[in-house]
Amino acid sequence: TYVVTENCIACKYMDCVEVCPVDCFYEGENALVIHPDECIDCGVCEPECPADAIRPDTDPDGEGWVDFNRKYAEVW
Ligand code: SF4
Repeated sequence: TYVVTENCIACKYMDCVEVCPVDCFYEGENALVIHPDECIDCGVCEPECPADAIRPDTDPDGEGWVDFNRKYAEVW
């Protein structure tokens, strides 16, 4: 899965939401998040993020962010 990381906090550009083919972005408290079970790993959102906040969870910068993304994605 791809995950939203700390650079998104208080940013919330919506560019990523618009390109996601499965609409798996959700609005968290201070950041957008990706539902890890809905993301199909297509990767199109990563270059769209102006804050460079989207990473695969296998990337060192994305590691550890899955729980944060799941927590806020499942509120809705
Ligand atoms: Fe959506 Fe693809 Fe980004 Fe996953 S990798 S959040 S499916 S645009």
